[in-house]
Amino acid sequence: MSIPADQAKFVDLRSDTVTRPSAEMYEAMATAPLGDDVLGDEPTVAQLEALAAKTVGKEAAMFVPSGTMGNQIAMATHCDRGDAVLIEEEAHMVYYEVGGPGVIANVVTWTLPSDKGVMAPEVVEKHVLKQNLHTPGTTLLCLENTHNRAGGTITPLSILQDYRSIATQHGMRVHLDGARVFNASVGLGVDIKEITQHVDTVNFCLSKGLRAPVGSLLCGPSDFIEKARIWRKRLGGGMRQAGILAACGIISLTKMVDRLADDHRRARSIAQAISELPGFAIDWDRVQTNMVLVLTDAPAPEVQAKLEDQGILCFPVAANRLRLVLHADIDDEKLDRAITAFQEIAVSRVS
Ligand SMILES: *Cc1c(COP(=O)(O)O)cnc(C)c1O
Repeated sequence: MSIPADQAKFVDLRSDTVTRPSAEMYEAMATAPLGDDVLGDEPTVAQLEALAAKTVGKEAAMFVPSGTMGNQIAMATHCDRGDAVLIEEEAHMVYYEVGGPGVIANVVTWTLPSDKGVMAPEVVEKHVLKQNLHTPGTTLLCLENTHNRAGGTITPLSILQDYRSIATQHGMRVHLDGARVFNASVGLGVDIKEITQHVDTVNFCLSKGLRAPVGSLLCGPSDFIEKARIWRKRLGGGMRQAGILAACGIISLTKMVDRLADDHRRARSIAQAISELPGFAIDWDRVQTNMVLVLTDAPAPEVQAKLEDQGILCFPVAANRLRLVLHADIDDEKLDRAITAFQEIAVSRVS
């Protein structure tokens, strides 16, 4: 597929990672003051890290090339080898990070079931282990909000509070994989700190709905971030004139958060249109942020192929389920094109 070369031809609903930088971001890349971040004198990275820490209400932040690296560094920094980590069974950190917890942090992951990505607090508490001669100690609870594989679902604030008190009671730390945590705060209509106050550390992505080309921020206490910097260097994540990327991240945090509400509105709008068509249904419980899971009577890969013929790109995520992701490069005109394509497929199936 020659998709990226001619973006205008396609309506790309595969992921919010496909967004291109805004014109303002290109301008910022061209003019950002630069240094050498490995030598510790990169002014634009320093500015982004300070802004990120302040935004999520933590003491410090560290710019990393990817969300995966931020999460894995968090786990390695929080845990000793052999520690047990409680984590939801379809969480990105265990499902899509290629065994990182075993390879990098050398921890044992105890995966727990959930309802649409949200673990029951009593199930979490039941699985906490105290270290002794036989069992590993549970030192970390990992959360994901919004939850990717569950379809962009939000963890309620009251549940976050429950997790926090369980963790405090048992001496566990809490790390939030907040790749899309700004979608959660915008979805709930609360300041991001209402969410992040319940966790010790959070990693969030600049390169998804916030539209930057590259990068994530791992945020937490100063002493934690200091140790995390060693892990980043060890993994090869030290970047030199990274201010070119950080300049985009500053625009992400200052200009791209509020617009996530548009993605959420468009997600509901395409979900509504598809729900009215024969051969399709919507999993409404999961339409909470910028993702839509479409249930298809026909096999999902077949529907995907028909959509692709019309220039609409998306991923099948199960035998009869397609995922659509809304983002900054999908305006109302592109949304209408996608809806029209679904309508045409529905008509051709009926006739
Ligand atoms: C995308 C994503 C990540 C990882 O981000 P990359 O930058 O692609 O490594 C981590 N967690 C969740 C929930 C994600 O959706």
